Amino acid sequence: MKYQAPRGVKDLLPPESETFRLLEEEISALFALSGFREVRLPIFESAALFSRSIGESTDIVEKEMYLFEGKGGERLALRPEGTASLLRAAIEHRLAEPGRTTRLSYQGPMFRHERPQAGRLRQFHQAGAEILGTNDPDTDADLIAMVSRYAEKTRIPGSTLLINSMGCEACRPAYRTRLVAYLEDHKNTLCETCLRRTATNPLRVLDCKVEGCQAVLEAAPPLTEFLCASSRDHFDSVCRGLADQSIPYTLSHRLVRGLDYYTETAFEWVSDALGSQSTWAAGGRYNGLVSSLGGPDIPGVGLAIGIERLHLLREKAATLPLPTDPPVMIALHPLDEASRGYIHRILSSLREENISAVGLFGQSRLKKAFVSAEREKARYIGLAGEDERESNTLTIKDLATGVQKTVPAFPAASLADLLRTGWGAES
Ligand code: ATP
Ligand code: MG
Repeated sequence: MKYQAPRGVKDLLPPESETFRLLEEEISALFALSGFREVRLPIFESAALFSRSIGESTDIVEKEMYLFEGKGGERLALRPEGTASLLRAAIEHRLAEPGRTTRLSYQGPMFRHERPQAGRLRQFHQAGAEILGTNDPDTDADLIAMVSRYAEKTRIPGSTLLINSMGCEACRPAYRTRLVAYLEDHKNTLCETCLRRTATNPLRVLDCKVEGCQAVLEAAPPLTEFLCASSRDHFDSVCRGLADQSIPYTLSHRLVRGLDYYTETAFEWVSDALGSQSTWAAGGRYNGLVSSLGGPDIPGVGLAIGIERLHLLREKAATLPLPTDPPVMIALHPLDEASRGYIHRILSSLREENISAVGLFGQSRLKKAFVSAEREKARYIGLAGEDERESNTLTIKDLATGVQKTVPAFPAASLADLLRTGWGAES
């Protein structure tokens, strides 16, 4: 019986796993610089939390959730996204209050049962940042700036910021009516899903990716023409906030996002370097969401970055963060049985000095030890036998230059310095 990872699920192996971790650390640092504090959220939640917040007639809830039953019969789901969980936690632990701004972030795996392809997995990773407690449009502009500046700084290829307003409870109903009338006029050219959603969730129709629907949807009346005065003001202020910071953006009247909870500002960063899965980060404002989940009436705005797509982009741009230290600095080999204990001592004292060191204990022959050291990608091999033991030294060979030296093994700090700085070609 051979086991394989389930479809759409990826093992992250070295060295990708290492650059992946560096990317996650980079995003954590980015969020921390803007005042976000990280929360760790559970991988599964009550399924109702997601259907309630994301919306019954969305792709995620209709067909993408991994559902299962708890022992007590409760309906649970692997989390398809982070915002609902984060708000659930914020409400449960009273992390947010009206009139106070709270900035929280999260990172981790998300699960959606979709058709796997490049940049689209069933288990993927997101890093998200949410600001609760303010409806101020400059908050939106500042949050957007954080990611746009990051895209600039890390030279993400072909990245464009798309932005739209989803309006609010006051203006959306009138738009909805107008849109439904338009969609019904064009029902002969729309796909099955669009027809169904015209009845259940017409705004979602604008998000349809089916080729045959594009022309009709492109010509649909834009939501921004139906905004009430307050939503109009809010959106204008967000755009002004971006212009003030010289952040380029493109208005996109069909941008409605795949989740129902958005109000007012909606935005996405797309890249033409990603092929069809072009969105690498996305977010928006969700002023009604906290209260709809049973919390106080607190506005919020947030975004999520897709780490796999970010990784693809950074790889294309050749700007992936790379580990600076070799995986293993030195591999140590005992030249005789009696030197094993001595090698143990040097291993622990070097690790104490933050030098990565492995013991080559399984190899009786020196030649094999060299092969193992190369396989470990060690920079040096260190050898100790009777002579070294008696003089408290270690014979080291730089595997890149072939230069060999016998040096004091203690104090370990001096040996560590020597390994870090190297000794060039001199012997
Ligand atoms: P898409 O339109 O690509 O399906 P979405 O609207 O479903 O995206 P969000 O729920 O907004 O995506 O998630 C935010 C980000 O998470 C996306 O922009 C993308 O980078 C990433 N993402 C979403 N789904 C996947 C997936 N199945 N595999 C990899 N990354 C994903
Ligand atoms: Mg999706």
